[in-house]
Amino acid sequence: MDRRGDSEALPSLTGMAPATIVDAHMHVGDFPLFKVRMDEETLARTLPHYGIEAAMVFHPDNRYVREVVQRVDGAYGLVWANPRVPGFLEEAVELLDHPRFRGVKMHPLLDGYHPNDPDIHPLIEELVARDLPVLVHCGHPIFTLPWSIEELAVSFPQAKIILGHMGHGNVVYINGSIDVAERNEHVYLETSGMPMHTKIAEAVERVGPNKVLFGSDAPFHEIGVEVRKVQVSGLDDAMVDRVLHRNSRLLFFGDEAASAPVAG
Ligand SMILES: [Zn+2]
Repeated sequence: MDRRGDSEALPSLTGMAPATIVDAHMHVGDFPLFKVRMDEETLARTLPHYGIEAAMVFHPDNRYVREVVQRVDGAYGLVWANPRVPGFLEEAVELLDHPRFRGVKMHPLLDGYHPNDPDIHPLIEELVARDLPVLVHCGHPIFTLPWSIEELAVSFPQAKIILGHMGHGNVVYINGSIDVAERNEHVYLETSGMPMHTKIAEAVERVGPNKVLFGSDAPFHEIGVEVRKVQVSGLDDAMVDRVLHRNSRLLFFGDEAASAPVAG
């Protein structure tokens, strides 16, 4: 099947309970290795299709992300920060001045550095000063296990650190991620790609009502499947609502009822 033609049909939502969504984890760009893509045109159709009011999107090419978030309603950027790239800090600071950028994405596994590498520290200080979060890919050795990201959290007790995928597919790493978020008040969990629906409810019980965020990891995962995991996790309706959008509004926009960043 050719999935790369223009205006591909989006999946049917038959049987999916309606939901209001803020997506904390979405990729934009073309990913030939995975045979998927989320270009600007697809993103603009995808967000309203699923009821996504806001989405945090990213790609290693931050200039491309800036173009996309300026043109697509509801799209906000996280700055992809790779401390191995000369000038990354200056670029990140410049982009964080843009109102559509709401934090930073770190992928220490792909980019090959320890999450607590001193080269990343000036950027974390910048985020603390701006009260913006960092989303860190979490769930693969050697650089993205929860305990390595915890070293960054311990170095920066004021930083808001989100464990992307909350440990991903391995229950040892999932449990470890919940442990890290439980013992560090400023560490949050994001649900994308983590297959065990009941772990979402367990995470909320253990780490508190404001620290678990919905993420889809689209286009690598189907958004409806990721939403369904939260809806059937065992949480009551009010908590499902917190996970699907309120907690992200609070973290990225400064108010759990905000539909856009709160100034100041
Ligand atoms: Zn991802």
